[in-house]
Amino acid sequence: MKLSKMHLKTLREVPNEAEIPSHVLLLRAGMIRKLVSGVYGFMPLGWRSVRKIEDIVRQEMDAAGGQEIHMSAVQPAELWQESGRWNAYGPELWRLKDRNGREFCLGPTHEEIFTDIVRNDISSYRQLPMNLYQIQTKYRDEARPRFGLMRSREFIMKDAYSFDRDYEGLDKSYQEMYDAYDKIFTRCGLTFRPVEADTGAIGGSNSHEFTAISEVGESEIAYCTSCDMAATVERAECKDAAPQTEVEALPLEEVETPGTKTIEDVAAFLKLDKTQTMKALLFVTYDMEGNENGYVAAFVRGDRELNMTKLVNALDIPEHAIEFADEDKMSAATGCVGGFTGPVGLHDCKIVVDSELPGLKNLCAGACKEDHHLLNVNYGRDYEGDIVTDIKTLAEGDPCPVCGAPVKHARGIEVGQVFKLGTKYSDAMGAVYKDENMQSHPIVMGCYGIGVTRTLAAVVEQHHDDNGIIWPMSVAPYHVIITVMKPDDEIQAKVAEDLYEDLCSAGAEVLLDDRKERPGVKFKDADLLGIPIRITVGRGAADGVVEYKMRRDADKTEMAVEESKALAL
Ligand code: ATP
Ligand code: MG
Ligand code: MG
Ligand code: MG
Repeated sequence: MKLSKMHLKTLREVPNEAEIPSHVLLLRAGMIRKLVSGVYGFMPLGWRSVRKIEDIVRQEMDAAGGQEIHMSAVQPAELWQESGRWNAYGPELWRLKDRNGREFCLGPTHEEIFTDIVRNDISSYRQLPMNLYQIQTKYRDEARPRFGLMRSREFIMKDAYSFDRDYEGLDKSYQEMYDAYDKIFTRCGLTFRPVEADTGAIGGSNSHEFTAISEVGESEIAYCTSCDMAATVERAECKDAAPQTEVEALPLEEVETPGTKTIEDVAAFLKLDKTQTMKALLFVTYDMEGNENGYVAAFVRGDRELNMTKLVNALDIPEHAIEFADEDKMSAATGCVGGFTGPVGLHDCKIVVDSELPGLKNLCAGACKEDHHLLNVNYGRDYEGDIVTDIKTLAEGDPCPVCGAPVKHARGIEVGQVFKLGTKYSDAMGAVYKDENMQSHPIVMGCYGIGVTRTLAAVVEQHHDDNGIIWPMSVAPYHVIITVMKPDDEIQAKVAEDLYEDLCSAGAEVLLDDRKERPGVKFKDADLLGIPIRITVGRGAADGVVEYKMRRDADKTEMAVEESKALAL
């Protein structure tokens, strides 16, 4: 592409509204254009980089077995009413009506739409597992759109949804997406960390956020200085939290569950949605003299693990007063692990619940009777307790819950998230499959998002200097920029043109700055645009010599045209 022909307008001044480098530089480089608050368009160079990221995402999603489809951004309210999110989602949901008053929204995400597809199209276990994805424009009426592409109201997201027959399948699908995300963000040139993102204790997470490390990021993460442990500091907002009022409390039921030992057994036996399964632990506390003086019960959902140290800290119990060790010990003390002792509605006990989890209604718990469990346990009706919400918070310097080394904090940008949904949507919307024996089961789902345009901003955050962007080759709008010092000089023009043609035909993506501008202006623009390789054609052209420079390095080298060509390819 010749710059003299390209629609490009760079800015010398820092735009008023831009506070962070990526926003400033993408505007200054003329890559994005603001329409209204939180709504941006992409100019030629910006759009090329968006497509580069999309291509990386697409390749890795396809390699992981994903199938690309493309759904409408316009979604009928009825589907959202079925899932219960029409009311739950709140003002971020961009709602609209058609001329007949029928309600719609502009999709902030597509769980309902994809669940609707599979409930219509999938009937047999033979069609599972399946992974469908799209790269598509999303709408969220954010309370505070800011930082350009970072938090906008219209943005491009890759969203994928996995469909499996059981939780084992989900675990596998989840891992495949996790690994694909690792490859995608590595290929985009990001320094990032996958962090545990949901409300479960460390080590038992149903969700991870992929966080690009950056000072300007809005997420705060805690990570271990020695092992792999990393988690969000604030508890992840539970986007799937259905308001409690929408769930009706069902009558408490005691059921026989012969042969079940673990919560997984129980979940499988009763065909429970794991997110509806409550793991309850109860342990005995002792006073200084060693007399029993009370009970502590702790509840977590599904397959999450309890972190005893955090629990005890959260409960503010002096360590000497409590006997907790391994599960066997607790088992001995209470007669039941994975359920709770005594009649439901314990006295003198403190209960820790994962309060941000959806509902706290109709959970399953142990009945403190061998081979029995309770169904439809409801917080407030069947048990009470203090709700402690900060089990997960790890302060800087705290011992890592996995290995004990000190924990550090860092800021980062959430560029993607993977989430085990379980059967939340398939239950609500009736997406089932039939097994080998013609028995119906809800399809077990996962969802996986990547902010494509936010990733672009994150790349700029991590790759820039005072003069402009420094694109990693993989997402650069062009690989090479050829700067002609004097386009009116016949020799310079010819050398540059030939080099341009040769590089292009060899497959490089090349910009030729043939504009009739001063060299200073061209060099400034080349730095601002951040094209990884710059080849300058100047006076030396007469002797077949050009200057070669990498955007990320300060030094430049004079070399023969042929050599520069070989280097650039
Ligand atoms: P955040 O915590 O930043 O509000 P989120 O958790 O609400 O993000 P998800 O629902 O997980 O976002 O959406 C998947 C991905 O879409 C996010 O990981 C992020 O990269 C991107 N994304 C979400 N909201 C925005 C936005 N307003 N502008 C640009 N990208 C966004
Ligand atoms: Mg959000
Ligand atoms: Mg988030
Ligand atoms: Mg998220």
